[in-house]
Amino acid sequence: MVDMQREEWLSLMLSELPDRLLIIDEHGRIVDSFGEATQSNPELTNKYLKRTFSEILPENLAENLQHHFKQALTSGQRKTLQYSMTPCQQLLLSIEELEAWNGVDERWFEASLKPITLASGATYVLWQEKEITKAHLHQVELKKLAETEELTGILNRRAFMLRLEREFDSPTQQHLSCLMIDIDHFKEINDQVGHLSGDEVIVQVAHICQGLIRSSDYIGRLGGEEFGVVLSRTNAIQAYDIAERIRHSIETTPCQVDDHIILPTVSVGIAELNGHVSSVRELMVQADKAMYYSKQTGRNQVTLYYENLPDIKSTTELKANIRRAS
Ligand code: GH3
Ligand code: MG
Ligand code: MG
Repeated sequence: MVDMQREEWLSLMLSELPDRLLIIDEHGRIVDSFGEATQSNPELTNKYLKRTFSEILPENLAENLQHHFKQALTSGQRKTLQYSMTPCQQLLLSIEELEAWNGVDERWFEASLKPITLASGATYVLWQEKEITKAHLHQVELKKLAETEELTGILNRRAFMLRLEREFDSPTQQHLSCLMIDIDHFKEINDQVGHLSGDEVIVQVAHICQGLIRSSDYIGRLGGEEFGVVLSRTNAIQAYDIAERIRHSIETTPCQVDDHIILPTVSVGIAELNGHVSSVRELMVQADKAMYYSKQTGRNQVTLYYENLPDIKSTTELKANIRRAS
């Protein structure tokens, strides 16, 4: 009697689980399912029974899930993974289920995989999954906030440098070029139109740059009126063309703030990431040197870094009473 009651409790508790619990045999077939919706809609669960992921889901998603499933099975350890699904990725969805997606394009799930072995020696994986779409979107939003520079909406210095460092360290390091862009005589612009209007010039310059690069490229605000741009799969010569287009567009796009019309200009330096560049820092130093060369030789121009480019910046620094350490 007590055992029967216990069994009933267990069965009720399993069907009331807020998450979905699948039991999968060692061949990857779903042999039982509990929790989420099983109570209210048993057909919904039944149609997944005896099927493998590859019969329910498209190839690449099924392969990914099966890969983790096998890893859990061979290691005997609990594994967790996160994955996303779009409605069209679920091959067995009924019209009603599709409607339940309620306009959501992508749902995120977290699954915990725990291999278990029964007394008979048969091994199964307990696949417990819960929806984490809200938490995922919240995380994406937080990450975006942490990476975004408030005034311009482009990457902040930290996020820009991190992304560049990651690309530099990647084993499939891409061929890329880096632009350093600084607005000319910006102090004067501020003095003449005020700091707030100066801000609008900064925003306009950032947006012009962003509008002229591809989605695989990126731009960050490195300082007050200084920007970095990374052009992926671009050599120095190609980068020069893009930098010229940016420079020209800024020069010819009037920025109207209050009753002033400002025509800002920028000085640009370019460095290419090639086999001779040993660090991101070195790449940035080269782009910076080229940018200073543009400044010191007339502004509103683009300079490509090369090995013997005169180091105008260090002469300026010496004048500013900064001595070399050695
Ligand atoms: P150069 O052509 O040599 O670059 O001259 P510059 O006047 O632009 O020189 P510098 O780079 O030294 O001056 C940058 C000025 O930018 C100084 C600072 O007051 C101003 N600035 C820095 N951040 C901001 C900002 O967020 N908003 C505004 N409006 N001004 C800023
Ligand atoms: Mg400046
Ligand atoms: Mg500056």
